Amino acid sequence: MESVNDVFSQWGVSEHVAVRLRAAAQAAREKQQGSAMTHSWLFTGSPGSGRSTAALAFAAALECEHPSIIGCGQCAQCTAVHARTHGDVFFMEPRELIVSVKTVREEIVAPVATKPMVAPWRVVIVDNADRLNDQAANALLKTFEEPPTHAVIILCAPSTDPEDVIPTLVSRSRHVYIPQPTAAEVAQLLIGEGVPENHAHLAAVATGSHIGRARRLVHDEQAQRRRVSILNLAELVSHGDQAFLAVSDIVKRITKAVDEDLGQENEQELEKLRTALGMGAKGKGAQKALRGATTQLKELEAVQKKRKTRALRDALDLGLVDLAGLYRDALMLASGAAKGAHSGQQAGEVELIHPDMFGLSQEMSAAGSESLTACIDAIMECRQDISVNVRPETALDAMLGKIRLALGLS
Ligand SMILES: [Zn+2]
Repeated sequence: MESVNDVFSQWGVSEHVAVRLRAAAQAAREKQQGSAMTHSWLFTGSPGSGRSTAALAFAAALECEHPSIIGCGQCAQCTAVHARTHGDVFFMEPRELIVSVKTVREEIVAPVATKPMVAPWRVVIVDNADRLNDQAANALLKTFEEPPTHAVIILCAPSTDPEDVIPTLVSRSRHVYIPQPTAAEVAQLLIGEGVPENHAHLAAVATGSHIGRARRLVHDEQAQRRRVSILNLAELVSHGDQAFLAVSDIVKRITKAVDEDLGQENEQELEKLRTALGMGAKGKGAQKALRGATTQLKELEAVQKKRKTRALRDALDLGLVDLAGLYRDALMLASGAAKGAHSGQQAGEVELIHPDMFGLSQEMSAAGSESLTACIDAIMECRQDISVNVRPETALDAMLGKIRLALGLS
């Protein structure tokens, strides 16, 4: 089959998924009713599988103005969808711990209900839809049941499991499963974006084929440093106090990164609210108005604080997954399942997650399988602690204590 050069192939959407979405976008363009096209969609796959990219590619295909290619990737519509600046395509990524019904109404239900302004469809993509609690999900139900004829709504979640998406939403949507790409596929995607081959490959394996993280790792020097400082804990743990000192440094670095990521957005939100409230106004009634405004500002600050907590926990969790990967590499080397980066990979041999840290994981492998398994358990318990809101430094210190114990260091 001749490969099609459209948004799906350009943005690295797997062919198996692209076939269905192309058919849907074509049916939509030809206005076929009761066909491959429908309004309510559920894209499932693990975070980093490219599910949100698939959703964006589908949105571009729906809005594209190219006469023959459906989703050309080049026209004004496709380009705007890609840049996430399209006036009719909304990308919502809940980052708070609990998404309120109010947020769902304002950021999903209302934009879906409004007629498209510049393109044929009004598309709302909700990433991490598993973060909607039951109440918030229920607020979506009516929109999912009777979507306006101009609307397309796409939920992205890890699975169709009731823990992720309430069954009433699952049963009302068309389900598309987005398979996790292989490391080779992610590397290929990055190489296509101009990343040198060795960097692309390392980033793909070191992030467990997570497209977004892999992309960030090759482009963001701070992210590279954070990764190395977390992996170095495995080295420092045998040097007593140094590991505990490193923990507070790591937490500081991650907090700083989260602040930088969210800072601009927070500032824009605050500015928007201040303008909307006419703050700075003087004269009669202004005092009273400003008292109300203070409450709204406090509410916004509370939302931003929650978002930061969530982002910080997520970032720490990813760091811990990296660290667990290094112990897993050591375990694979200890058991002989992996030979390491320098011997050339043999058939059936397990690939290292952090091939650039081979020297360290080989050293660590001397501890033996049982100890290394206990170390991995300690890291998993730390992830659990952080997920239930234990202070990061406390959780990480406890983890180091357990690792030292497992390795017979204390
Ligand atoms: Zn186009």
